[in-house]
Amino acid sequence: MAELVVHPDVRFITEVLRAGGGDLKKCYQCATCSTVCTLSPDDSPFPRRQMLQAQWGLKEQVLSDPALWQCHNCGDCTERCPRGARPGDVFGALRQKAIEHFAWPGFLARLVNNPKALFLWVLIPVLLFGLQWAIGPEGVSHTGEPEFAQEYPLWLLEALFFTVCGLAAIAFAVSMGRFVKALRASGAREPILANLGPVVLETLSHRRFADCTAERNRYRGHLLLLWGFVGLAVVGTLIGMGVMADVVTTPLSETNPLKIFANLSGLAALAGALILLWDRWRNPDKRARSTYFDWYLITVLTGVLVTGFLSQILRELEWAAMYPVYFVHLVLVFMLLVYAPYSKLAHLAYRTVALAAAPRQR
Ligand code: SF4
Ligand code: SF4
Repeated sequence: MAELVVHPDVRFITEVLRAGGGDLKKCYQCATCSTVCTLSPDDSPFPRRQMLQAQWGLKEQVLSDPALWQCHNCGDCTERCPRGARPGDVFGALRQKAIEHFAWPGFLARLVNNPKALFLWVLIPVLLFGLQWAIGPEGVSHTGEPEFAQEYPLWLLEALFFTVCGLAAIAFAVSMGRFVKALRASGAREPILANLGPVVLETLSHRRFADCTAERNRYRGHLLLLWGFVGLAVVGTLIGMGVMADVVTTPLSETNPLKIFANLSGLAALAGALILLWDRWRNPDKRARSTYFDWYLITVLTGVLVTGFLSQILRELEWAAMYPVYFVHLVLVFMLLVYAPYSKLAHLAYRTVALAAAPRQR
């Protein structure tokens, strides 16, 4: 009879327990969770197997399992688990550990997700933008109306954002490369690039999320937030290209179609963020616990949208308060985009790649 030798990573088990999977050890492998999960495929069910792998500290196996990214954290399995092992929460903790494990450089991911280091991650953009503010006004205003460029030198802002976002994009690309390598090593053989199209379409439609009837609020909030940000990304790109081609002048008037589209997209995103925030805060039936990892993203996202609208309104009113509000907005945008490879926002990329690598699990 073949001998099975297990080399548990004890530190990994402790990290999963601390990241929100505190009831992991209660699991006694009854498989109720895999039976009730509507997303679990017959030929490769989850989350029972991953619970065992996590209990045994099989870090590499469980973190490179695409099944982690198929779960939408509906909490059905948590509600039905007879032992209170909360497999939905354990999956949430494992996804956080996967992002930290594959992120490059790894220490940055562990620091970004450590609440004790939050002051540092706020301090960095505060110092950077504070320095820019101290450098003083550039005196550029295309229309003579109050404009942020009067307080913030735009060329410096653009140079800073391009540099840090470029570095974040490189870090993200390296992280994804490591993740794909691990997926391949775990047996995922599908052509990822060829499968990306259908996966992205499925994500935009939220078809699988819609299957979860118990979490309608989260589904609606998620969909609004996603489409809102897609709209903002599209209009932001159009405005940027227009400015570069010298056919668009900022600030846009309130009746400009691009501005109207941007505001509608922002409102959709804000509505989605508020629904998700409310749902997480209320958590009526305790189906899913929220951790710092969850709160960081939804709070920063909501803050970006609220300060974005507020600074626009204050600018229309020509109130000087628009500058400090815009300052907070810039700090939050920095915290959203530059830390993206290490925060929960990275789940967008990990989920997409995992499902493209293992379409059997879609
Ligand atoms: S997590 Fe709960 S439902 Fe799933 S196998 Fe373990 S004890 Fe059973
Ligand atoms: S939380 Fe929902 S989707 Fe995730 S494993 Fe449990 S039942 Fe399945």
